[in-house]
Amino acid sequence: MSLGEFELIERFFRQLGARRADVVLGVGDDAAVVAIPPGKSLVAAVDTLVEGIHFPRNSLPRSIGHRALAVNLSDIAAMGAKPTWALLALTMPTADESWLAEFAAGLGDLARRHDVAVIGGDTTSGPLTVSVTILGLADNGAYLARSGGAPGDRVFVSGAVGEAAAGLAILESRLSGGSAAARELLQRRFLYPEPQLELGARLNGIASAAIDISDGTAGDIEKLARASGCGARIDVTRLPLSQPLLECAGPEAARDFALSGGDDYELCFTVPQERVPQLSARVPADRWPYREVGVLTAGGELEFFAGQTIVQAVRPGYDHFGH
Ligand code: ADP
Ligand code: MG
Repeated sequence: MSLGEFELIERFFRQLGARRADVVLGVGDDAAVVAIPPGKSLVAAVDTLVEGIHFPRNSLPRSIGHRALAVNLSDIAAMGAKPTWALLALTMPTADESWLAEFAAGLGDLARRHDVAVIGGDTTSGPLTVSVTILGLADNGAYLARSGGAPGDRVFVSGAVGEAAAGLAILESRLSGGSAAARELLQRRFLYPEPQLELGARLNGIASAAIDISDGTAGDIEKLARASGCGARIDVTRLPLSQPLLECAGPEAARDFALSGGDDYELCFTVPQERVPQLSARVPADRWPYREVGVLTAGGELEFFAGQTIVQAVRPGYDHFGH
């Protein structure tokens, strides 16, 4: 690499993210050491972004850095946990200084905002691939799993879905239409997704199950339902679709983006009927909007319906949207 691996790590990665007192040994040694407080469980996840697959070629480096961490923080949010430390494995074809500065700024800004310290990583040369390992903490036993749902639990979706997939379609010139302001907003939703950490933390103790919406609302609801050993009955007309999405895509394509497009990083969660009043008290809808879209059912059937019409019925084990 032109810049020299050691120099590159010193310049761009040594001070990345927040400073935390619980980092005993950070970037620079053979491995990092952190202090885990008593009574806490370590929550760990890793997600990899590959150029040309998870983001378009020649994407803005700031966005790549932001997204690489955001998708991981979103997994921690879905567990109702608090993110603390991250490791960054970066593979890139050349060490371009201005690219690296922007990439590190995108990742570092988001890390600082959520008090996450980058404690180590790996730097290699090859096709652009960014893999982040995120570590976080939860009180012992107090985390949100996908598998906690039960028949009768209400299914909720936070924020608005379909925006990021529409934003990607705009970036790739597959979608025109709508005002410049609406198109800009949708593209930002793809480029700079915001992980729902505060919402996830508030849901902890109330929701029975949660998953982050990374692969499309339908597929992710299915994963949650399956993990919970349930089916689901989902009213697709209740999916939260934003005005900018409807403006750019129209109602039909908007619903498709919401159901099978990914990258929104909203949360899908289930709440037992008797805890729904607690939900509205603990999660003020003006700060964290969410919408009830259906219910978990006994048996494996997944039904997505609009009015009385079933628009998509999924039998157990059937891979309906192809992922
Ligand atoms: P080793 O050969 O022992 O794996 P490296 O030269 O790969 O060591 O890394 C040296 C130090 O720099 C290690 O502490 C490692 O965690 C850190 N590091 C390497 N690449 C990155 C990166 N992209 N981001 C953060 N830390 C990194
Ligand atoms: Mg190494």
